[in-house]
Amino acid sequence: MIDLASELTALRQAGLYRQRRLLSGPQGVRPRIDGRERLAFCSNDYLGLAAHPAVIEALRDGAVRDGVGSGASHLITGHHQAHAALEDALAAFLGRERVLLFSTGYMANLGVIQALCGRGDQLLADRLNHASLLDGAQLSQARLRRYPHADTDRLKTMLGSTHRSAGQSAGGHLIVSDGVFSMDGDLAPIPALATIANATGATLMIDDAHGIGILGAQGRGSLEHLGFDGADAQTAVPVLIGTLGKALGTVGAFVAGSAELIEYLIQRARSYLYTTALPPALARASLAALRIAAHEHERRDQLHRLIARFRAGAETLGLTLADSPTPIQPLMAGDIDTALRWSQFLEDNGILVTAIRPPTVPQGTARLRITFSAAHQTGDVDRLLETLARLPKRRSKKQQQQPAALLDH
Ligand SMILES: *Cc1c(COP(=O)(O)O)cnc(C)c1O
Repeated sequence: MIDLASELTALRQAGLYRQRRLLSGPQGVRPRIDGRERLAFCSNDYLGLAAHPAVIEALRDGAVRDGVGSGASHLITGHHQAHAALEDALAAFLGRERVLLFSTGYMANLGVIQALCGRGDQLLADRLNHASLLDGAQLSQARLRRYPHADTDRLKTMLGSTHRSAGQSAGGHLIVSDGVFSMDGDLAPIPALATIANATGATLMIDDAHGIGILGAQGRGSLEHLGFDGADAQTAVPVLIGTLGKALGTVGAFVAGSAELIEYLIQRARSYLYTTALPPALARASLAALRIAAHEHERRDQLHRLIARFRAGAETLGLTLADSPTPIQPLMAGDIDTALRWSQFLEDNGILVTAIRPPTVPQGTARLRITFSAAHQTGDVDRLLETLARLPKRRSKKQQQQPAALLDH
């Protein structure tokens, strides 16, 4: 058992102690946090739908019609018409046979991996995958092998060159990757992953939590962005995960795939079976958000204009950005102390961007994770750039050896 007091002290001393900010009022680009309004560049509400009037109205109407609690898990009496309508709409939007809703993305990843893999199987995962994919791997008891970020050559080597025919009894292979990497904003090499999966008889699962709603002309995500359409997308990536708490501004998640996959998951995914269904009203709110995300292309266009403006401005300032076409634009600080000081400097100037530290990201890659929303204005991006232009320099190595400041957040 962990010694709580000494563990907490160690976290403080390492600059890794975290504190929650207290928000009042709605999520948005100018949230009221700890009693003060700030210009925020750190939420995943990329399309500005979390407090959209039509989404709020759908939630309110849904609660009036269907109550609040779902009362039970989906397999008892919790499965409601509202859930089914959202599943059908998501399946139609993505061009998949069927979709299954989960209460969160974390639970979707746990449930899907646990259901698809077991002892004797191998799970091949990008080293920068989201934590929930890693946890799913552990729950499944499959052998987890992690390949260096986006390194498809290494993946190929790991899988070996021998072709496995379907049904071979040596255990199956599941390749798992984020579609858009949540802390870096870059895309997975999905075409190469699909080719490798096809050549080796492995199954490819993509978690597109940060792609759905944002990438592709229709907002269908990383696959659309990379040129895969309905049937091709299904063949290349038979298991697709999306979440509703990011671009769609609500809460929940889903897996999209063949009817057979969904039927199997309903029987076997423990994080689906053994938990209370999402409130039906939330499914109605998500359906309203999906309609907006699918039809209001202007939101996506605005978002991509803001991203382009930021990247051009950052280049002029000589800031080094990752190769990211998404609203996630990390600014690398390296050490934890620099990341915290930068975040504090921005906050002193009324701008909120959280510092992301290990273990969320690898050692030595602490960063500011800047994210954009369609609700930002051009002037907001300019204000961010003006402030970044005055960012304090990194300290010398020697100065860094001072104990990390007790900047508690
Ligand atoms: C946020 C995120 C999740 C978890 O989704 P929640 O609905 O917030 O639980 C899963 N995968 C990735 C890649 C994410 O970024």
